[in-house]
Amino acid sequence: MSRSFTWHLSLCALMSLSWVAKAAEVNVYSYRQPQLIQPMFAVFTQETGIAVNAVYAKTGMLERLRSEGRNSPADLVFTVDIGRLTDTVSAGLTQPVESAALNANIPANFRDPDGHWFGLTARARLIVTSRKRVAAGEMTRYEQLAEPKWKGRLCTRSAKHPYMVALTASIIAAHGLDTAKRWLQGVKKNLARKPQGNDRTQVKAIYSGLCDVAVINHYYLAKMLADEEQNPWAKSVRVIFPNQNDRGTHMNVSGVALTKYAPNRASAVKLMEFLSSPRGQALYAEKNGEYPVSVGLGLGQNLKLHNPLLESWGPFLQDIESLAVIASHRANAIRMADQVGYDY
Ligand code: FE
Repeated sequence: MSRSFTWHLSLCALMSLSWVAKAAEVNVYSYRQPQLIQPMFAVFTQETGIAVNAVYAKTGMLERLRSEGRNSPADLVFTVDIGRLTDTVSAGLTQPVESAALNANIPANFRDPDGHWFGLTARARLIVTSRKRVAAGEMTRYEQLAEPKWKGRLCTRSAKHPYMVALTASIIAAHGLDTAKRWLQGVKKNLARKPQGNDRTQVKAIYSGLCDVAVINHYYLAKMLADEEQNPWAKSVRVIFPNQNDRGTHMNVSGVALTKYAPNRASAVKLMEFLSSPRGQALYAEKNGEYPVSVGLGLGQNLKLHNPLLESWGPFLQDIESLAVIASHRANAIRMADQVGYDY
């Protein structure tokens, strides 16, 4: 009797404990650096009382999620790039979210039509050119990167890197497969050297005189300007928001997905909604120099960017092709990189 009573008590305690845990926490798997998202989690916890436990990793998160299966403690996956977001979805590791707040806060092109992923910050894929060797206005469109005029003057990273894959996929979306392939062939012909390094490496190459033109994500400029060694690299280039007179600059996102077996679903959706809200977006953009996703809702009008560099660049026209459509061209973009022998 007394034994079963004790058992009953402890079971109750256990149940209420697990109930409290379920109601009051969110578990996050993140490819994003802690310093980028931790401050926002802190504000969220302060305002809602919901704790956020985050695990950070550079690789292997999908494998971990997959092997944990139904037992995974993870509710949300944070990652960068439409490729990585859609890979998570294709792996069957997510579930859809229906949320009026998310749909209102995030422009349609920055979220999955089926609700499996949501963009939380936006990044522009810029062209940068040497201030010394390329005149203002000489380069204005991605299409020009393939023109023979630039032979031996371009530097890019691998065409297989997700940022480049998304750009090629956006060219496929805009012009179709055949034209996009001719474009990539042309870009390949213009390379000053075998593709290598990351986005910053290309800016350094312009600074060193190895090439005159590169393609980079916008936030690296802020990071480089703030770095003693890299500051002169950043200052050696002119910043171009491509395609301002036609479809606009290619955009990508960092984003979030709700895991298939999220144990704390309601709290997790609350965190997603918070991060998409004007308050969450202000914190996010300020912290990491990215654009709020709402940049797609107003193109700068009434939009606080919370970042002096971004504000100095001002509003710009962005390509509002759905990232879901762009993602659907990724496999072709990767194949194309092989077909034109881009990386060799
Ligand atoms: Fe990056």
